[in-house]
Amino acid sequence: MFKKKKQVTQNMSPVLEELFDPASTDTVIDVRDLWVEYQSDIETVRAVNGIDLTIRRGRTFGLVGETGAGKTTTALSILRLLPAATGRIIKGEIVFNGKDLLELDENLMQAARGNLISMVFQDPMSALNPVYTVGEQIGEAIRLHNPDLTEEDVDKKVEEMLSLVGIMPSRKVEFPHQFSGGMKQRVVIAMALSCEPELLIADEPTTALDVTIQAQVLAMIKDLRDRLGTSMLMITHDLGIVAQTCDDVAVMYAGEIVESGTVEDIFEGEKHHPYTRGLFDSIPDLSSRSERLKPIPGLMPDPTNLPEGCFFAERCPYAEEICTKKHPGVYIEGEHRILCHRFTKEEADE
Ligand code: SF4
Repeated sequence: MFKKKKQVTQNMSPVLEELFDPASTDTVIDVRDLWVEYQSDIETVRAVNGIDLTIRRGRTFGLVGETGAGKTTTALSILRLLPAATGRIIKGEIVFNGKDLLELDENLMQAARGNLISMVFQDPMSALNPVYTVGEQIGEAIRLHNPDLTEEDVDKKVEEMLSLVGIMPSRKVEFPHQFSGGMKQRVVIAMALSCEPELLIADEPTTALDVTIQAQVLAMIKDLRDRLGTSMLMITHDLGIVAQTCDDVAVMYAGEIVESGTVEDIFEGEKHHPYTRGLFDSIPDLSSRSERLKPIPGLMPDPTNLPEGCFFAERCPYAEEICTKKHPGVYIEGEHRILCHRFTKEEADE
């Protein structure tokens, strides 16, 4: 029912054609040494500080961290949708199917958005227009990216998309307010997937939903990923969601990736960044009811005035003198990477 291979439409520029044509590599997107700032008249917020991130074809990559860690800024940078007045990519590459998105002109980038990379936001209502039916809105997304389709084809595709996300096609004539929160998020996901993107970015897609509805939407996202082979960047603060949906994980803190690896590395590995450990300790454990949760004490450092050494040093129970003086290097074991002096020091001592 759903065409996995994207059609190259007429009049498409050679660069976009190349972007449509996946390179032989199994990597969909490769973010290299990305630095992003927000600049106002009085201060500079260092939101993303030299991150590397690779999403492999057909896999779901979880980006975890607390509010203000730089997760959404990373997603907006990939789509080149940072606020024009304040947001700036200082340095880095965002390589999609072998092409650096930061070098595309705005027309090409606009074509790439939706066609190649789509995004689902936290609040479905912000993505839906209350005065149009859901069918009209999904149809508009399809038409925008496939101008050659007839009205009949668009209508057929709208119905296909609604069935795909578990909504009766006959509901296409209804307005957003006639849908529950979970159903609205399904409509938004149908819109995002309607152009068969190669990468779907889901920014806290279930945070605004009830817990039971969250589970349904997550199961659906996972099922769609398995059926369509869409690669996914799942942004969340919830490690439970990562465990359920992701293949690879990166933990972000103060604009850096402090730990990354496969889901097994993060959930079953022995070595962890102290921040990741803190995140795990702050999750309720149903098997040990009497234990109190251990929140991570303190706050993230001020992004307008980041410390010279490790950004986590003020909150870290393992901090030593070197941690406040020198920024840590990366410890690497297979695909598992940890940004911490504890492990690089261990290596140097061996
Ligand atoms: Fe803690 Fe030091 Fe590692 Fe930072 S580098 S996480 S302060 S042990």
